[in-house]
Amino acid sequence: MIPLNPINTFLLPVVAAIFFSATTAQAGGIVNVYSARKEALIKPLLDDFTVATGIQVNLITGKADALLKRLQVEGSATPADLFITVDAGRLHRAKESGMLKPVSIPVLEQRIPEDLRDSEGYWYGLTLRARPIIYAKERVNPDELSTYEALVDAQWKGRLCLRSSQSVYNQSLVAATIDAIGPEASQQWMQGMVNNLAKAPSGGDTDQLKALAAGVCDVTIANTYYLGRLINSSKPADKALASKLSVFWPNQSGAGAVGRGAHFNVSGAGFTKYGKHPEQAQALLEYLASGPAQAWYADINNEYPVVQGVAISPALEGFGRYKMDSIALEILGQNNRQAVQLMDRAGWK
Ligand code: FE
Repeated sequence: MIPLNPINTFLLPVVAAIFFSATTAQAGGIVNVYSARKEALIKPLLDDFTVATGIQVNLITGKADALLKRLQVEGSATPADLFITVDAGRLHRAKESGMLKPVSIPVLEQRIPEDLRDSEGYWYGLTLRARPIIYAKERVNPDELSTYEALVDAQWKGRLCLRSSQSVYNQSLVAATIDAIGPEASQQWMQGMVNNLAKAPSGGDTDQLKALAAGVCDVTIANTYYLGRLINSSKPADKALASKLSVFWPNQSGAGAVGRGAHFNVSGAGFTKYGKHPEQAQALLEYLASGPAQAWYADINNEYPVVQGVAISPALEGFGRYKMDSIALEILGQNNRQAVQLMDRAGWK
């Protein structure tokens, strides 16, 4: 595991070696970043990048849709060079907005698996997030669980909590399901889950976990880093809450779609169409894909690195081994509109 605080001493030599070998000529200058990730989740890395390269990073954080809107309003006058956000659905939305530009970066194409980046180079995944089933240990035997699809079974009647269909996380889950089992079966699946709801969808992923711990429901679908955050929290109440919950990796075995693996997504970044510092932006992106940066970046939010062979945090190790759905994540964006339509038809509020 990578230590969270002594990152400077840990990262510097490696980063410097990677960076200066590739882009010594462009050392210095600035890069402007629009990030939908919270400052705490990325700023320390950016600071290290500056120390290693002399490139100043100007970070502007905000909500993904607002930042995208800002890019559109600013047009060619935008100062932004890189756009960082979470969810392949949102990255695709940014691509479709015309505000990103495709860039082929051999280092990234080599380090980041094909499934986790846009095939045309409009965006690159930088961290991986898993969205499996999470259950209340007291009331659910994991032997009762198997697949996302099986959450429609009668035994889960009144025992399921789901976040709303407005959540891009759920839209992307449905987009992946459409690819796996087709639109009709996906709609039936969602109708079945809606039938099993303990209450109307509301709140974020953490609220679903709280509802499980409070006995409102017994199973949900949520990103694992929310559970990781509770496990690592300094508040005893959070730890107590987390101790009542466990992760179940669905769709791990069986032929075809049944054994496709658990749903995964990414946070990622793309070059803005009108960025003025492409060399510095490329250097930053390459840095974010370097081994130590990957470990830290994933670790700080309990996500998984996109680069293979990078160690993961003890909290994530504790969630066990899993097989992830190998769907090309750009499909999540391509299927988003249909997913939203089908969610609506299925009555998923
Ligand atoms: Fe999140």
